[in-house]
Amino acid sequence: MPMSLIADNLSSVQERMAQAAQKSGRHPEEVRLVAVTKTVPVEHIAEAGKIGGCVFGENRVQDARPKIETLGTEHYRWHFIGHLQRNKVKYIPGLFELIHSVDNPELAEEIHRHSLKHGTVTPVLIQVNVSGEAGKSGVAPSDLEALLERVTHLNGIAVRGLMTIPPFDPDPEPSRKHFAALRKLRDRMRSLEMENISMDELSMGMSNDFEVAIEEGATWVRVGTAIFGAWDTG
Ligand SMILES: *Cc1c(COP(=O)(O)O)cnc(C)c1O
Repeated sequence: MPMSLIADNLSSVQERMAQAAQKSGRHPEEVRLVAVTKTVPVEHIAEAGKIGGCVFGENRVQDARPKIETLGTEHYRWHFIGHLQRNKVKYIPGLFELIHSVDNPELAEEIHRHSLKHGTVTPVLIQVNVSGEAGKSGVAPSDLEALLERVTHLNGIAVRGLMTIPPFDPDPEPSRKHFAALRKLRDRMRSLEMENISMDELSMGMSNDFEVAIEEGATWVRVGTAIFGAWDTG
């Protein structure tokens, strides 16, 4: 994809997000964009950085660190959206403002420990496998409450909500029921009013289905290809 298109693509995604919010009676400011930059080189990320209005999402610590070193954490803000290995957690505090993908208590404890060591509190989302797809990351919906009970006392993290990735489908409509299920689960967990756990955020929706996700309550959408084109995933 020519670099000159990135700014146009980003503006157009932002416009479509606002329209989807309005269509469903929501304020556009309630829905924020994670521009997913995994496999995207820094010069291309910088094109999007000129437009602004988004944070940047990476899914591998080892790929993200040199990019964050180059672009910084002031003008560019970073979220971690991928499977997080426990031995990489030490790099997380101070680099990433939100971890979308915590799905087990051991990982939560590791983030808690390193955050306290770093003198910070790391906001996280719990990734839920709402579709029950085999081999997929995410806690089962039936195990979510138990996981929250185990992490509620960890003061180095702050649970802010839930994230999901539905089974891939080029048609956005089949994802709708999974997005709605995540929202209902979020509402139920929120009603438990657990200490140190707020349930305001819903991270759901990617290039092919972010508008449907917004209609179903997304507060963060994670969009890569529709902005940067298709880069080889390694
Ligand atoms: C790659 C990725 C995205 C973005 O996917 P696109 O289809 O390119 O928009 C969103 N979320 C996660 C967790 C990803 O790994």
